[in-house]
Amino acid sequence: MAKDVLCEVNSCVHWAEENKCNADSIYIVSHSSQEASKSAETDCKTFEVK
Ligand code: SF4
Repeated sequence: MAKDVLCEVNSCVHWAEENKCNADSIYIVSHSSQEASKSAETDCKTFEVK
C-alpha cells in the first residue's frame, strides 16, 4: 500500500504543502478506453477542486 503519495495537482482539496496528498485513500483510473501503458493515460478520481 502506498504510504506517502506525492502529487502536484494543487487545485485539489486533498493537496497539502510539499506536494503531499492528504486523502485517506485515492482512486486512480485509466482514461483511455484500453489498458493504460503509460502514466499519461491515468487520472486521479479522488480529485476534488478546492
Ligand atoms: S486526491 Fe488525487 S489529485 Fe488530489 S491531491 Fe491526492 S493524488 Fe492529488
